[in-house]
Amino acid sequence: MLDGRTALVTGAGSGIGAAVVERLASSGARVHAVDIDGDGLDKLVARVGDGRVTPWVVDLSDLDAHDTLPTDVDILVNNAGIQHVAPVHEFPVDEFERIHRIMLLSPFRLVRACLPHMYAGGWGRVVNVSSVHGLRASAFKSAYVAAKHGLEGLSKVVALESGDKGVTSNCINPAYVRTPLVEKQVADQAAAHGIPESDVLEKIMLTPVAVKRLIEPVEVADLVAFLCGPSSDSISGSSFTMDGGWTAH
Ligand code: NAD
Repeated sequence: MLDGRTALVTGAGSGIGAAVVERLASSGARVHAVDIDGDGLDKLVARVGDGRVTPWVVDLSDLDAHDTLPTDVDILVNNAGIQHVAPVHEFPVDEFERIHRIMLLSPFRLVRACLPHMYAGGWGRVVNVSSVHGLRASAFKSAYVAAKHGLEGLSKVVALESGDKGVTSNCINPAYVRTPLVEKQVADQAAAHGIPESDVLEKIMLTPVAVKRLIEPVEVADLVAFLCGPSSDSISGSSFTMDGGWTAH
């Protein structure tokens, strides 16, 4: 399906990003996999194992480091992200800025750099892994929520500017995907409430989730692949919630 296409995926060393790389590579794409975590990338390259994945160990909060990344790609998946928990009035300004460098400035710099190649080829796909927190807020997540809302806006503007050039731009809005990011949330809540991790999942996190289970990274990767595939030419400027029914309440 993606033979001859080249992709760049950020946050590829773990969780959703790693699943996306595997999915795109199995569909025929060559993939540049970007992460700060070299060990995670090494394991990913070993898993895919056919030379389709090129690892790039880069700290995306270092904006100068972006200039080392390839820009002649047909598919850009902005996925890297980190979580935090702190009230606004106590949140360190430099940490707010660092999170925005990773989760908003980095997607802007990458899409800005990659669009000319996509425009020249008359085909491109930008997929931004946002969150339900790109559409709604939660207390104590100011930097995360603000960055994801910004990513939603950026994605729509790219869609408006690029539709007549064969390039689409969309967001995916997951919640509670089984990744190290969520596993840490579960462990933190278990410690905070003094209860087993299984109780955090069953009695707290999954209570409002209709499907009553965590989403698997491969399910998000399948949606990314669909948005990069031949049936998605007219889908642009959209946001796709994948939260097991949580925000249906
Ligand atoms: P994860 O922690 O498993 O993966 C995130 C990856 O980003 C890691 O490999 C990490 O090393 C990388 N990364 C972090 N900071 C970086 C930096 N400065 N430079 C380069 N790479 C960096 O988390 P995940 O759950 O797979 O999250 C992927 C994306 O999905 C994130 O944007 C997250 O906000 C979003 N998301 C996840 C969930 C969920 O339930 N897991 C829900 C909503 C949104």
